[in-house]
Amino acid sequence: MDPQQKSVKVEKSDEQWRAELDEQAYAVLRQAATEAPWTGAYVDQKGDGVYRCRGCGAELFSSQTKFESGSGWPSFTDPVVSDAVELKEDRSHFMVRTEAVCARCGGHLGHVFDDGPGDSGQRWCINSAALDFDGGADAA
Ligand code: FE
Repeated sequence: MDPQQKSVKVEKSDEQWRAELDEQAYAVLRQAATEAPWTGAYVDQKGDGVYRCRGCGAELFSSQTKFESGSGWPSFTDPVVSDAVELKEDRSHFMVRTEAVCARCGGHLGHVFDDGPGDSGQRWCINSAALDFDGGADAA
């Protein structure tokens, strides 16, 4: 990410996040909760568009990289640009996983696994509650 973009990081107090986000988005984005599989709004979402961070609106994933993983969570082969998302080691729940975090607001999105079907080999397993689907003007 270039220095200019880094300077527009979104930082808010816990109080502000609580006031702005619905309960589930707050739990996922700010407390790293995981929504139950097959419950999220975007698991079966198929239209063309962009998935934005529900916390800050940053463009994170494109419908073009979305695939049916069978996991019960929206799954992507790649982020829309690699700088949009940061990776962190997550050692919670007696596992070592790679956590995906919004680069702009630090919100927890989900995890990245190395069993994806595309060229990247990655499977970005993302909570619907962390996303807003933006179908744009062409959305059906
Ligand atoms: Fe964000």
